[in-house]
Amino acid sequence: MTDAAEQKTAIDGLPPLRAVIEKHDLATKKSLGQNFLLDLNLTGRIARAAGDLADHTVIEVGPGPGGLTRALLMHGAAEVVVIERDARCLPALEEISAHYPGRLEIVEGDALKADFATLAGEKPAKIVANLPYNVGTQLLVNWLETEPWPPFFDSLTLMFQREVAERIVAAPGSGSYGRLGVLAGWRTEARIQFDVPPQAFWPPPKVTSSVVHLVPRQALIATDARRLSLTTQHAFGQRRKMLRQSLKAIGGQALLDAAGIDGARRAETLSIEEFCRLANAST
Ligand code: SAM
Repeated sequence: MTDAAEQKTAIDGLPPLRAVIEKHDLATKKSLGQNFLLDLNLTGRIARAAGDLADHTVIEVGPGPGGLTRALLMHGAAEVVVIERDARCLPALEEISAHYPGRLEIVEGDALKADFATLAGEKPAKIVANLPYNVGTQLLVNWLETEPWPPFFDSLTLMFQREVAERIVAAPGSGSYGRLGVLAGWRTEARIQFDVPPQAFWPPPKVTSSVVHLVPRQALIATDARRLSLTTQHAFGQRRKMLRQSLKAIGGQALLDAAGIDGARRAETLSIEEFCRLANAST
């Protein structure tokens, strides 16, 4: 037990997170990507990275024992909606709800099947989460492929493994640049806010994590999300090959000619604008 865990209450008047985990017997499950944050100063930093929370519906995926949920409420979120798959966590979340009457809605379910626009309700949303690593990338792709655009959310503030965060913010020419970077860069301005070391979590994961903040672009280069996704899937599927080879199944040299792009280039050298041109040429 740390000093903080021995205290009866934390800075928000609720029990320390270690005590919550002990009381509700929340032994972590690897299958649910459970690495809990126990330090309310750190969860406070993530909440602050999301900006002003007062005028939004704040949606959190995977609240677990509620460390980030508590920080969001402490840092001024008027309305938080959490969606959690593990029913064992619900009693701990109910205690937070009782401490902040009328401000926390708890939804039990699978975030991959959730309709987030409906969860957000009338107000614009901010999505803030320490995502389960096994579904984090898929959730981000779903949010980035939202139609119509601009979307129902004003920002996404999300914790990923550092390597995934680097792929999200990657620029052309970098080894991390790929499908995720093209999609994220096309639809949002994304940046890494700060790193979080393994020892900040219980249990500690093997790698460093990073908080990424993404803000939707209002004006996009015109293209279709699905076509862009298909084009990048082929181009980066064989990233060491020349594009005339890797894009063979969807038009090869003829497609590249229509988009005005040299077929001898490799996927990682193309700008997002050039990928959009390719997607638009692939009717
Ligand atoms: N937010 C907590 C924190 O920061 O300490 C917990 C984060 S933990 C990395 C991920 C959480 O997501 C766990 O509570 C896990 O049960 C939950 N989870 C896993 N898969 C989920 C899914 N498909 N839908 C909703 N929640 C999920």
